[in-house]
Amino acid sequence: MPSTLLQKVWDAHAVRKLPNGQTQLFVGLHLIHEVTSPQAFDMLRARGGTVMFPERTMATVDHIVPTKDQRRPFLDVMAEDMLAALERNCRAAGIRMFDLGSGAQGIVHVVGPELGLTQPGMTIACGDSHTSTHGAFGAMAFGIGTSQVRDVLASQCLAMDPLKVRRIRVSGRLARGVYAKDVILEIIRRLGVHAGAGYAYEYGGEAIDRMSMDERMTICNMSIEGGARAGYVNPDDTTVAYLRGRRFVPQGDEFDRAAEWWLSLASDPGATYDDDVEIDGSGVRPTVTWGINPGQSVYVDERLPHAEALPGPDRPAVEEALAFMGLRAGEPIAGTRIDVAFVGSCTNARLSDLREAARMVRGRRVAGTVRALVVPGSQAVRDAAEREGLHQVFLDAGFEWRGAGCSMCLAMNQDRLEGREICASSSNRNFKGRQGSPTGRTLLMSPAMVAAAAVAGEVVDVRTFGNGG
Ligand code: SF4
Repeated sequence: MPSTLLQKVWDAHAVRKLPNGQTQLFVGLHLIHEVTSPQAFDMLRARGGTVMFPERTMATVDHIVPTKDQRRPFLDVMAEDMLAALERNCRAAGIRMFDLGSGAQGIVHVVGPELGLTQPGMTIACGDSHTSTHGAFGAMAFGIGTSQVRDVLASQCLAMDPLKVRRIRVSGRLARGVYAKDVILEIIRRLGVHAGAGYAYEYGGEAIDRMSMDERMTICNMSIEGGARAGYVNPDDTTVAYLRGRRFVPQGDEFDRAAEWWLSLASDPGATYDDDVEIDGSGVRPTVTWGINPGQSVYVDERLPHAEALPGPDRPAVEEALAFMGLRAGEPIAGTRIDVAFVGSCTNARLSDLREAARMVRGRRVAGTVRALVVPGSQAVRDAAEREGLHQVFLDAGFEWRGAGCSMCLAMNQDRLEGREICASSSNRNFKGRQGSPTGRTLLMSPAMVAAAAVAGEVVDVRTFGNGG
């Protein structure tokens, strides 16, 4: 029977079917960080448990780390306590940790792939919503809650509901100035933020096939914003080329044997799907969110929607979003003034993202009214960017160049919006209060669009901005 990748990976990791219809799945890799793990370790200890597979558990620190002054102890006492707890727990359990002094610290969803911890065919769990990122490699990766983190620490297993698969094929070639971020925002806008409930999204088609691993990670990262439990791309030559030589992948002949197996996991021709969606990738344009969920977006050359033009049940959400954002129906999104520009997060803070952002600002200056920062996704990304001189491009333009971490994506650190500030952000969520101020406002877009907005002081179209956008 032809199978999907999901089915193959699921079957390979199924321990048993549970009486309630769930499957007990073995977890190949458990990624932990400082926010959702301390309580899980406490619960584990309270039950007298120990970590069953410390060698399958990896830790890093991302959410709470300051990105400006990373000297210990941190000025923020709570952040210092959380990191210290993670360090204690990892030491006690024999878990490898990529901390600030490791040279490999960073956002967990950036670090896992770049170290080669993330591999095709794995089941991966992490106490963070955007674990779906790792699906870019053909892994089944699930964000889990704190009590599930405890369960995985104790048993290396998860109880999972069965999943349906929606195949999303993005055909054609993307136009100049259109990025993976625009594609995933398009998918979420078309299908809605709840359409993925009960599904894994399988992304394919020419536009996805042509994407780099960085771009595929951007796509899979935001699967959760479309409501999907997971997202994945079938492994191919691009996947194998990315992984070859990375620190934690097999080396030499073993790598070739692993690669053969990885490629065999791709969904078979003739596999059946629970749903099929086709999107013309060549028609996607640079996209900007205007509202308070990632599905509320328009192309940069479009105008904001009129609630009264929509079906009755859809109107209140649009009215609420426009009121919160202080934007008016019918106005163009281009020209919306911004106060802050943030290039960062597990969605768009990899080297290729920084290169595109730097290309927009080279030889230009950030608008005097804008506070702009670039926060690399990991220390490795930061080092690589500095070797290429990207940091100097940003500094010359008036950006702040920071240490690796989640920074302003979630603002569990000192990087946050103030009051009603509007932020052009390369992150993944524009919920009310997401960036630290209850009244702060977020416009999601690609890193190139963020950089262009930083210079212009307002939302602009990268396709006409110059610098080869
Ligand atoms: S960058 Fe944002 S979305 Fe990603 S792990 Fe950090 S807080 Fe979560």
